Amino acid sequence: MKRILLNFLLIIGILLMSFMPEKRKNAEKDTGEFKWITEQFADAKILRYKVPGFENLTLLQKELIYYLSQATLAGRDITYDQNCKYNLLIRKTLEAIYTEFKGDRSGDDFKNFTVYLKRVWFSNGIHHHYSTDKFFPEFSKDYFASLLRGTNLQTLPLKPKQTIGDFINEITPIIFDPDIAPKRVNQNPEVDMVAGSASNFYEGVTQKEAEGFYSSLRKNAVKTGQDTMVAFGLNSKLVKENGKVVEKTYRVSGLYSKAIEEIVFWLNKAMNVAENPGQRIVISKLIDYYDTGDLKTWDEYNILWVKDQKSSVDFINGFIEVYGDPLAKKGTWEAMANFKDVKATKRTETLSRNAQYFEDNSPVDPKYRKKEVKGVTAKVITAVQLGGDSDPTTPIGINLPNAQWIRKEFGSKSVTIDNITYAYDQASQGNGFLEEFAGSQEEIDLAKKYGYLAGNLTTDLHECLGHGSGQMMKGVVSESLKNYHSTIEEARADLFALYYIMDKKMIDLGLVPSPDLAKAEFNSYIRNGLMTQLVRVHPGKDVEEAHMRDRSLIAHWVYEKGKVKNVIEKVQKDGKTWFRINDYHELRSLFGQLLGEIQRITSEGDYPAAKELVETYAVKVDPGLHKEVLHRYAKLNIAPYSGFINPVYTPVIANGIIKDIKISYTGDFTTQMLRYSKNFSFLPAR
Ligand code: ZN
Repeated sequence: MKRILLNFLLIIGILLMSFMPEKRKNAEKDTGEFKWITEQFADAKILRYKVPGFENLTLLQKELIYYLSQATLAGRDITYDQNCKYNLLIRKTLEAIYTEFKGDRSGDDFKNFTVYLKRVWFSNGIHHHYSTDKFFPEFSKDYFASLLRGTNLQTLPLKPKQTIGDFINEITPIIFDPDIAPKRVNQNPEVDMVAGSASNFYEGVTQKEAEGFYSSLRKNAVKTGQDTMVAFGLNSKLVKENGKVVEKTYRVSGLYSKAIEEIVFWLNKAMNVAENPGQRIVISKLIDYYDTGDLKTWDEYNILWVKDQKSSVDFINGFIEVYGDPLAKKGTWEAMANFKDVKATKRTETLSRNAQYFEDNSPVDPKYRKKEVKGVTAKVITAVQLGGDSDPTTPIGINLPNAQWIRKEFGSKSVTIDNITYAYDQASQGNGFLEEFAGSQEEIDLAKKYGYLAGNLTTDLHECLGHGSGQMMKGVVSESLKNYHSTIEEARADLFALYYIMDKKMIDLGLVPSPDLAKAEFNSYIRNGLMTQLVRVHPGKDVEEAHMRDRSLIAHWVYEKGKVKNVIEKVQKDGKTWFRINDYHELRSLFGQLLGEIQRITSEGDYPAAKELVETYAVKVDPGLHKEVLHRYAKLNIAPYSGFINPVYTPVIANGIIKDIKISYTGDFTTQMLRYSKNFSFLPAR
């Protein structure tokens, strides 16, 4: 659930895309001048994405998208401020220097200054977007002071009557002192996680006070018969006022009002050009919520949003994911505007429609199969605008809403964002990763021809069918496998996908163009599971993360079991290692066997067997191979994290009426961020 980057797609997706960019290769070569990677700095690279199909939308749809895109940008400052209370002050100061500094802009110091500014933009603040550790500039305090002194004072966010000297003294430690705001999210249970986190959801309250506040809110709701299902605390900051703990709600006339008013302004415009009455109500409910900050309204909105399966244009906009709060209560603002990719959605619909066939023919003991299976409907979307916490780094799939009770009663929307995955794929072309780790030219060619589609299809099979397949024996609950549950569950879904990607049915359904597609997928999976995913493991460490364990388990198990028939061969030459698949059909049959066993383990809740499998095949790393892989990877100089530049949308207006919305892919990262800061900065620096 939630953001798919934190689920299956976390690995298959964002990280895998950035660390192992060979995972999805394009089916069609893109031609023309479009530059997928625009620049690279520190550990980040900046990509562009295209919006295919935009031109074919109706004028009304384009207009709707335009308004939603503005609503997506309007809350940008909120995310900065939520991430840390110093972020807007720092960003605005750095931007003022960047645009106004009159001194030498050509030396290494100034270059390092721009890198630091770009990193702040990339992470929506002064902490690394992924590790949440504060990062530091590669220039000196003295140089920073000289930058400030060389900048027009009027443009700096000084306090009234503050001298430049005082300002320098105020701001320098925030950037340079490792003891100030060292980590955005501190999840160490040994410390006060609220006090230890720099994220700006609590002020002047301890963890104990915060937890006490929310548990009494809940108790009170139970006692007085109020709604007990709402996500208490989701849209507020908890502060102490006059010795009392109080909530400052994010809403019109509340905290972040100026930015929220702008969001509401654009949502109102969007509402007026909604595609249908249902969508109109969805947007109107969201406006209600922003006006009141009422979490019950938020739930009502989510139910309406989930039920709207008809509209082509869709969006995400709100305080949603709680990863930024160590207590997992506070939602960070994020937004996205998108529309449905009708052609690609047919793919997932076809799978769902045939779910029963796949279940009935799976290589699993019939007693563990589902008698009646319901495929999950998932749609494929095209992102149009990313915003808030989803920008510039973004998930490639999203499954919302988060409220468990709504998911259970009304379901959820599961989307994959194809134009983003496509951009990742294109950006990975020619970075040398595939060429370095693929075992042969044939393997490289197959990956280039089928890898991208194969990756998408296995993801579809995994998500739409794999997780939903099989049934538990009476009395067995999913908790039976305890700490091995996630790994086994992901392996089950992966194996379902791997087994069926080679099935004739996939060709009959028109989803797979050639039997070679499965070969490309098998190559990539084995290469990844046995070797390349190790680039994300630190030397000396085990494989920890559930999806990585899942892939390690499967790859090592089939490698081991296939040894007699030499199904997968380890090739070593000039100090380098490759794995070559000699028998794809036998490999598929091994995937089937393991699926049968893993389904049995799941259905029976066989903890000892799960433990045995995971501990034997999934966890341990061959230190020699690990070292080799890290060395080979480092040589490629691939930035591990990716962020995106959004397209620019410009209304064409004649006689006060919008005649068209033009899309363009212009401007670099810096131009975009400066434009956003100029046009969408609605919150003060402090
Ligand atoms: Zn999964």
